Amino acid sequence: MDMITRDRQYVANTYARFPIALAKGQGARCWDADGREYIDLTSGIGVNSLGFCDPEWIKAVGAQLATLQHTSNLYYTQPGIELARTLCQRSGMKKAFFCNSGAEANEGAIKAARKWGHSRRGPNCHNIITLKGSFHGRTLAALAATGQDHFHKDFDPFPDGFSYAEPNSAAALESLADENTCAIMVEFVQGEGGVRALDRSFARAIAKLCEEKDILLIDDEVQTGIGRTGTLFAYEQYGVTPDIVTCAKGLGGGLPIGAILFGDKTETVLKPGDHASTFGANPAICAGALVVLDRINEDGLRQVNESAKTIRSGLSDIIRRLTGITPSVGGLGLMIGVSVPYVSAREAVNAGIKQGVLTLTASDRLRLLPPLTITPEETAEALRRMEKAGRSFV
Ligand SMILES: *Cc1c(COP(=O)(O)O)cnc(C)c1O
Repeated sequence: MDMITRDRQYVANTYARFPIALAKGQGARCWDADGREYIDLTSGIGVNSLGFCDPEWIKAVGAQLATLQHTSNLYYTQPGIELARTLCQRSGMKKAFFCNSGAEANEGAIKAARKWGHSRRGPNCHNIITLKGSFHGRTLAALAATGQDHFHKDFDPFPDGFSYAEPNSAAALESLADENTCAIMVEFVQGEGGVRALDRSFARAIAKLCEEKDILLIDDEVQTGIGRTGTLFAYEQYGVTPDIVTCAKGLGGGLPIGAILFGDKTETVLKPGDHASTFGANPAICAGALVVLDRINEDGLRQVNESAKTIRSGLSDIIRRLTGITPSVGGLGLMIGVSVPYVSAREAVNAGIKQGVLTLTASDRLRLLPPLTITPEETAEALRRMEKAGRSFV
C-alpha cells in the first residue's frame, strides 16, 4: 500500500493501474509485495517472451553486462551484429536497425519510407495509408499513423501525410492510394485495437496493390512479432513479403529494444547520418534478445501453438459453460482476444486479479498475451482461476 501511495505522490499519473504492486516473478508466476501469487497471462504486454527471470536469459545479459555494457554506435560490437544476422537469416529481410521501442521503430520506418518515396517519385511522394483501429505508438508521427481518433485528442497538430482505410476492404484501400503514396502500414493482427486478425484475402490485396502501384508495405510486428502468433513473424502466415518490418515488445525478453528490418527495396535507403539512436543495439540487451530468438526455435514455436490451442479452447469452454454463449476467440497464436459476455473487459480483468490470474484489455475485449514458454501446468492453473473469476459474475 505504501508503494501505491508513494506512486500517486511522485509518479506522473498517466496509467490506469490495477491495485497490485508486483515484487518478483518466476516463469509465468509472480508475487505481489504481500506475497500473493498470480499467474501472468500478460508478459508485461507481450514483452517477457520467456516469462519472468529465465535463467539462461539472465546469464547471457549478466555476462555481457560484466564484459561491456554499452558503447556508442560509433564502434562495432558483437551482440548487435549477431542479433541483426539472426533476425535477417530467420526472416529473409536484409538489414536491421536497432532502437529502443516500438514507437521508435515505427518512426524510423516512416522516415525510411518517405525517403524512399522522395527518391522514387519526388518530394510529394510521402503519404502513408494505415488502417482504422490500428495502433502504432505514442510519439507524434506514430500517433498520426494510429487510426484511432481518441488517441489524437488534445495533441494536434500532427505531422501530415497519413490517411486511414477501413480494414478488410480492398476497395477502400485502393481509393486512398495514388502516386504520392509511399507506403501502406499495417498490423496483421491489430493488438491495441482489440486483437483483430486481418482477413487473409485482404492481406494479399494489400500486397498486390503495393506491387501494382509501387508502394512499400510496412508491417508493424511490434506486438505480433518474435513468435507471439505461432510463427516468428505474423506475415509468414499471410503469405506476403513486407518491405519493412518493425518489432520491439517481445524481442528483448523484458529489456527495451526495437528493431526495423529492411527488405530488398529498402535496405540501402537510410545512409550514414540519416537516422541514429544513442542506446540502439545495447550489447547486454542484444545478448538477451539472442537467447529469446534461440529459444523461439522450431520446438519453441510448437510449444506456442500447443499452448495457444489449449488456452483458446479452454477459454471458449469456460465462457460457454458459464453463459451458454459460444464466444469467438480472436487473434492468432498466443495473441488472444475475446469479448466477454455481460461484463466489461476491465471488470473481467479485476475479477481475474481476485482469483490470482493477470490478464489485459484491448479496446473492448479481454486480451491474453501469456509468456511464450508458459507450461501446461501453468496453463491449466490459469484456466481454473479464470473459470473461478467468471463464476464470481453468475
Ligand atoms: C505497443 C505497440 C507499439 C508501441 O510500442 P512502444 O514500445 O510502446 O513504443 C507500436 N505498435 C504496435 C502494434 C504495438 O502493439
